[in-house]
Amino acid sequence: MIETDVIVLGGGIVGASAALMLARQGQRVALLERDFCGTHSSGVNYGGVRRQGRSLVQLPLAQRAHELWAELPALIGIDGEYLRSGHLKLARSHTDLAALHDYASASKGFGLDLQLLDHQQLRRRFPWVGDVAVGASLCPQDGHANPRLVSPAFAQAARRQGAQVFEQAAATAVAHNGQVFSVETANGLRLRAPWLLNCTGAWAGRLAEQFGEALPLVSGHPAMLVTEPLPLVMDVSTGVEGGGIYARQVARGNCVLGGGQGFAQDPTRARPGQAAVLDILRNAAELYPFLHGAQAIRTWSGTEGYLPDREPVIGPSSTQPGLLHGFGFAGAGFQLGPAVGEALAELVVSGTSGQPISAFSIRRFQPVAPATVHSQL
Ligand SMILES: Cc1cc2nc3c(=O)[nH]c(=O)nc-3n(C[C@H](O)[C@H](O)[C@H](O)COP(=O)(O)OP(=O)(O)OC[C@H]3O[C@@H](n4cnc5c(N)ncnc54)[C@H](O)[C@@H]3O)c2cc1C
Repeated sequence: MIETDVIVLGGGIVGASAALMLARQGQRVALLERDFCGTHSSGVNYGGVRRQGRSLVQLPLAQRAHELWAELPALIGIDGEYLRSGHLKLARSHTDLAALHDYASASKGFGLDLQLLDHQQLRRRFPWVGDVAVGASLCPQDGHANPRLVSPAFAQAARRQGAQVFEQAAATAVAHNGQVFSVETANGLRLRAPWLLNCTGAWAGRLAEQFGEALPLVSGHPAMLVTEPLPLVMDVSTGVEGGGIYARQVARGNCVLGGGQGFAQDPTRARPGQAAVLDILRNAAELYPFLHGAQAIRTWSGTEGYLPDREPVIGPSSTQPGLLHGFGFAGAGFQLGPAVGEALAELVVSGTSGQPISAFSIRRFQPVAPATVHSQL
């Protein structure tokens, strides 16, 4: 029986950064990962480290994450190819450009320093963008990183800091005896702790449901591809207002592109699908003409969790003291991950998070009890 202060379920960037932050504060932590740390969303995502476009309620957390990303080498021992290249959000219509203007006004004060570019300014600064774009919004300090390096490095850093990290250790049974949680794993571990963190990504719904918190969590599978190495052209990470496609170029010249949805092969494996890949290539040639005819050398997808409002669940369980949730990041969890880990660690250590997280409470999905409704009337 492994006795510890905190058991973290899930070795993606969220669980691993929580384990790291807890271990740095002297907590005894056991991190349990069903497969290998960083093999799911956290290791296969596009690598966008951007705040631009995030919902306003996410921006304080995104801003804190932005600070943590700047300390990456000190935090996890590698730079993870993190580059503050800038993030350019393109508008394909004047309505979309107006939406970018609206977002820039609404997000003023959050430190994004957005620069709005009209058609001519866009042409001048980013001549490789196709004529189909009528303008853009540039967030100069956003950027990108290599998820395959960064996410496992969080778990390795947690281990160096003293956390016990167990891979191929799926939690198969969880119980609470009124005082502590006990967890059993598929590979025969038994653990006990007063705190349990549910950072199991797209698979988090089952544990929440066990504790009476059923949620409308669904899985999504963004499609991704990478091209052969090409001459260096793109000096910013890009996206498009309204979605559809995102693209960046790495120092070796390969362009990483994403867009649309693939499909689930089974509960843990996803594939991009031919239609989504062809869509990405078609959109790419239109928005970034230099990519016309570029060869895709690898395609992939991943599995991530979405809630109907596209906001995550972060914070205490509404039914079980000691249980904290951190999941449902819907395309934002790579950037947010370090700050979410920090927030969860703060909840364990001091009972409050340094960043506002009430908008992400699981309670927003709980039916309101009639008694509460009456007392509010
Ligand atoms: C293709 C793709 C592109 C994306 N692009 C971006 C992007 O550019 N920028 C961005 O910010 N975000 C992006 N995202 C989203 C981001 O990757 C996720 O929000 C983030 O990685 C979620 O991290 P996580 O730790 O919550 O989940 P995960 O990385 O999914 O980790 C959860 C872990 O829990 C483990 N687990 C599940 N059940 C158990 C169990 N019973 N016991 C033990 N372990 C268990 C799983 O094996 C998994 O490793 C993208 C996602 C995908 C799929």
